[in-house]
Amino acid sequence: AKADGKNTWAVYDRERNAREVARFSLSARMPAALEREEFYVDYQPLVRLVDRALIGVEALVRWEHPEYGRLGPDQFIGLAEETGLIVPLGKWVLRKACGQAKRWLDRFGDKAPLVSVNLSARQAGEPTFVSDVAMILDAADLPAERIQLELTETAIMATTGAPLEVLRSLAAMGVRIAIDDFGTGYSNLTYLRHLPVHGLKLAGSFMHGMQGRDADPVDTRLVDTVVGLARVLGLEVTAEGVETEAQARRLLEIGCDVAQGWLFARPGPPEEVDRLITRPE
Ligand code: C2E
Ligand code: CA
Ligand code: CA
Repeated sequence: AKADGKNTWAVYDRERNAREVARFSLSARMPAALEREEFYVDYQPLVRLVDRALIGVEALVRWEHPEYGRLGPDQFIGLAEETGLIVPLGKWVLRKACGQAKRWLDRFGDKAPLVSVNLSARQAGEPTFVSDVAMILDAADLPAERIQLELTETAIMATTGAPLEVLRSLAAMGVRIAIDDFGTGYSNLTYLRHLPVHGLKLAGSFMHGMQGRDADPVDTRLVDTVVGLARVLGLEVTAEGVETEAQARRLLEIGCDVAQGWLFARPGPPEEVDRLITRPE
């Protein structure tokens, strides 16, 4: 048993070591990757639940790594936050997303989707953040009303400086603000009263309990309650991670406004969104 234990530790150490090396090599490569445009942005549709019309898209970053292939944000955003590279990377994503939003606006006018972009605490805490956003919008010649910024409650709390001031300045510019992954953090609806927030995105983890015979009555009622309170506060509610018709129907009954998930569309290149905009009714 003793020898076994030792072996287990040796394996564990080797695995941990390999992981450390991989982490190091990923973060070491990131600045060059940014310069060489190895990153790209996919867009996932946001649909209005009543008629399933496309009303927006969420910009989701990916990395086409020359050796490891396609990497999802869960594999590198955390690292980028640790090293600080999230600041230039996040700016790059915002610039890309605004450029794409402008192309959709020029091509489709009123039918162009709102483009929603994720922000990390570290980005929002940069002293130049608000002026950077203004500059990027200006360079793209895009009205601020065409974009939404998504921040988690945790990110808002962790934002250094004055998060409230940052959000107020952005909202004053006309940028929409949504609380991301709502229900997984502090989940305190009352503080939302004091934030210039336009909408909530309900964490996908609620969706599991919202369906069929296995429906978890507590999950369903939680969502029900959150949607109800959000309405009182005048906030738009988007449900994330919607995978089934049963979930979509239930969300509509509850009064949820917008949905996002595999049931409607997976994240993909902008051309896939084009097809949804032009699709005849
Ligand atoms: P998120 O903001 O919660 O984004 C939604 C995630 O759910 C995406 O994962 C999306 O692909 C996935 N998803 C969409 N529909 C479904 C569904 O029906 N079922 C399931 N199971 N999943 C679904 P993704 O693309 O891997 O992104 C992961 C996270 O990485 C995002 O979570 C976001 O927090 C972060 N992220 C992505 N892009 C950026 C970025 O540009 N900047 C920052 N700071 N974070 C980003
Ligand atoms: Ca998000
Ligand atoms: Ca989310």
